[in-house]
Amino acid sequence: QAKAQGRNNYQFYAPDMHRAAMERMRLEQDLRHALSLKEQQLSLHYQPQVNLTNGKMVGIEVLLRWQHPKMGMINPTRFIPLAERMGIMTELGEWIFDQACRQFQSWCQAGLLEERVILALNISRRQLTQPDAVAKIQAILARHGLPEHRVSLELTENALRDEQGAITQRLEQLRALGVHIALDDFGTGYSSFNQIHCLPIDSLKLAQPFVNKIGQDAKNDAVVKTIISMAHTLGFDLIAEGVETREQAAFLQDHGCDCVQGFFIHPPLGSPMMTRLLQSQLTNK
Ligand code: C2E
Ligand code: MG
Ligand code: MG
Ligand code: MG
Repeated sequence: QAKAQGRNNYQFYAPDMHRAAMERMRLEQDLRHALSLKEQQLSLHYQPQVNLTNGKMVGIEVLLRWQHPKMGMINPTRFIPLAERMGIMTELGEWIFDQACRQFQSWCQAGLLEERVILALNISRRQLTQPDAVAKIQAILARHGLPEHRVSLELTENALRDEQGAITQRLEQLRALGVHIALDDFGTGYSSFNQIHCLPIDSLKLAQPFVNKIGQDAKNDAVVKTIISMAHTLGFDLIAEGVETREQAAFLQDHGCDCVQGFFIHPPLGSPMMTRLLQSQLTNK
């Protein structure tokens, strides 16, 4: 584009492009280093998923955090695509699963989690399409003694782009073992409407943009209602993500959405905070 605007402009843009490339290379280096140091820079946050009919916690989603030594906390939307490109997402994903299962089991053993609460793990397309993905996941769960039916895997709608059957097959294998499958960011990405009814999934996660606009745009509200009813017609649970206000939660509850997740309910919490929350829920019963 710069080139099309003339030679001089190209000269002007080149250093910026160079700088961006350099920054990306440095970030890649730092990420590789972070993966070698693991818990020194990487940590997991946990966000409750709550049932709207009784207010009870039904799931805990695991969200990765990277504390960069100089740049501070870096958002996963910024570095996960990088990890995928670098070919280290599978290794990173396995570390996340292992840590999360260990933490979840320790909460179970402390009597802090009821049987209905499941562990929700985000899985990248790359991680899922590894030849031994299913066996690896099974091995991690087995290592921690976590039954398959206590785990949900969240795959983004976009991960199904150009799906030729390989991903669906993996999902079917995992479901046969009892693992729940959720389609994340539903409605924003690649539209899988033509095949949504035959996907091997248990729930849809209504993407944040729809939830943000609740009560502000009648057409958006109509779409949300339609998605809730479509999900139920097809036999899927619907989890709304990014619920930030009482109005949004009330609208979702009034229209029969099953579960919610978001700052209005609980933000993602580090494990000490999450432990305290679980303890307080136990004593409040
Ligand atoms: P996601 O799975 O859709 O996760 C929801 C994102 O929304 C999280 O961002 C969460 O912190 C944020 N969030 C939760 N409640 C609210 C709210 O009320 N308002 C707003 N504005 N945001 C809210 P986060 O942690 O930055 O993660 C972003 C994305 O990165 C995730 O989207 C997921 O796709 C990916 N990701 C995070 N952790 C992992 C991981 O361990 N493995 C993989 N493969 N992907 C991950
Ligand atoms: Mg998710
Ligand atoms: Mg999402
Ligand atoms: Mg997302």
